[in-house]
Amino acid sequence: MPATPDVAPRPRRTPRRIEVARIATLSPHMVRITFTGEDLQSFVWTGPAAHIKLIVPEDGSHEAPMPIPDGPRSPTMRTYTPRRFNASTFELDVDFMLHDHGPAGRWAIRAKIGDRLVVLGPAPGYKIDAEAAWFLLAGDGTALPAIETILADLPAKISVRALIEVTDENEIRALHSAGNVDIEWLIRGADPQQAGAPLEAAIRKFIDQLPSGNGRFYVGCESNAMRRIRRLLLKERGFERGTIVTRGYWKLGSSNHPDGDYGDDTV
Ligand SMILES: Cc1cc2nc3c(=O)[nH]c(=O)nc-3n(C[C@H](O)[C@H](O)[C@H](O)COP(=O)(O)OP(=O)(O)OC[C@H]3O[C@@H](n4cnc5c(N)ncnc54)[C@H](O)[C@@H]3O)c2cc1C
Repeated sequence: MPATPDVAPRPRRTPRRIEVARIATLSPHMVRITFTGEDLQSFVWTGPAAHIKLIVPEDGSHEAPMPIPDGPRSPTMRTYTPRRFNASTFELDVDFMLHDHGPAGRWAIRAKIGDRLVVLGPAPGYKIDAEAAWFLLAGDGTALPAIETILADLPAKISVRALIEVTDENEIRALHSAGNVDIEWLIRGADPQQAGAPLEAAIRKFIDQLPSGNGRFYVGCESNAMRRIRRLLLKERGFERGTIVTRGYWKLGSSNHPDGDYGDDTV
């Protein structure tokens, strides 16, 4: 059985020029940026929790370069989640966490209408098992857009527990789903060294009072924490590999963390 059964292979990547059309504040540390551009006419929605690559402007700039095959320098490219695509207006929403630790986070802080980026992808998304009795969706702010796309697609009969880790209570906001969702917001505090610790504790609690029936786990957070959680689920508690998707969305102290970190090396 493949290690990550619910995630399809990588797509061919076509660079598309996009431009910022709108910026909306979702919470003090999260903005929704809506991109437009003729190139989005060939963009295809590939399902929930998919990912795109964005070439972002360098510090101080408002325009990212198109990639040049075999060019002397690779542009600054980071991984994000297509939050919503409107196939009538060709508008693509991406929710950015605001932080000043890296070029993409810093660009999102200074983003202006008219800024020009480049998008590649999307890769295929997460396949929801509509036969599952319950889902546990757990993640920090970087995985929240992915979790929201899963919530949006879940059938109403499925019972869902969502554990969302944020720095403080001002990040708490309404999330929408047709499913029967029980959301718990976990306050981590400002120290990034604590990333994933509240999630791990809450997941332990959840599996101590597991709902009945066949469940599925989707976990997205800091990479080291993701490995601890993956070990907990697979090794300590013996859940089947095929029921679990874990993804490292970023890694403490590491720039441009790879988009394919499913923690397959953990167990
Ligand atoms: C599949 C996938 C989908 C993603 N979707 C989204 C999304 O929709 N929205 C979103 O905001 N992010 C998303 N991310 C996370 C995003 O790619 C990373 O946070 C990325 O590192 C940001 O790039 P950067 O240039 O700001 O920082 P980098 O240059 O990559 O890193 C610089 C430093 O910042 C630190 N860092 C990176 N991210 C964070 C953070 N969130 N908090 C604290 N420190 C951090 C790193 O540890 C490093 O030390 C996704 C990641 C993956 C793998």
